[in-house]
Amino acid sequence: MSNIPANVSAVRSLAAEAARRAGRDPAAVTVIAVTKTRSVAEIEQVMAAGLSHLGENRVQEARNKWQTIAALRPSPAPTWHLIGSLQTNKVRAALEFADLIHSLDRFSLAEALQRGAAILERSVPCLVQVNVSGESSKHGLGPAELVPFLRQVAALPALQVQGLMTMAPATADPEAARPVFRRLRELAAEAAALGLPGVQMTHLSMGMSGDYTVAVEEGATLIRVGTALFGERSN
Ligand SMILES: *Cc1c(COP(=O)(O)O)cnc(C)c1O
Repeated sequence: MSNIPANVSAVRSLAAEAARRAGRDPAAVTVIAVTKTRSVAEIEQVMAAGLSHLGENRVQEARNKWQTIAALRPSPAPTWHLIGSLQTNKVRAALEFADLIHSLDRFSLAEALQRGAAILERSVPCLVQVNVSGESSKHGLGPAELVPFLRQVAALPALQVQGLMTMAPATADPEAARPVFRRLRELAAEAAALGLPGVQMTHLSMGMSGDYTVAVEEGATLIRVGTALFGERSN
């Protein structure tokens, strides 16, 4: 059994120390509890320990948990992050629960989100996923594709781009992720300078259990942490 409350405090304090080391305000960093494969009972424990941002990969699993947890009427109500890749045919379901979509990685998806949002008469906060490391196994735009993509997306009025997301290569050495995180921050600065309508670079979603302190040192505002809170995933 992992001790979820103790893990929550440890992650929060290590993230806060990393922020201070980098001269950043610890309050500018939000821990997203990545709850894929975890039970509602485990999710309730992280919420009781003070985390109200939850991240899920799969639309169906997320939607089920969102419904179950909403019925429990937690206070504060959680904010739901969709962090896994999104199929175009799941957009309508995703828009039901996701407060922020981290995985905008192609124009066909942007168009589907625009259509879905127009029907609901709302906007869609999202992050553009960038494959900084260039690994073929990873989703996301290549760094050189980012600016042309943002110019295209800026023409879709419902899309509210709030920043960038990346996944670093999985390695045992968190320092190996540093250049990836730094590059994402530089890309965000370049993108912000374009001043495109509907495109803001408020958020950098980067860093997972093995490397979140490095990500915070490099400017992460949203860290996505699963294993360090809940223990190893069994599936
Ligand atoms: C699973 C997952 C995480 C969390 O990974 P941990 O190593 O368990 O912290 C973060 N981001 C994405 C996109 C994930 O799929």
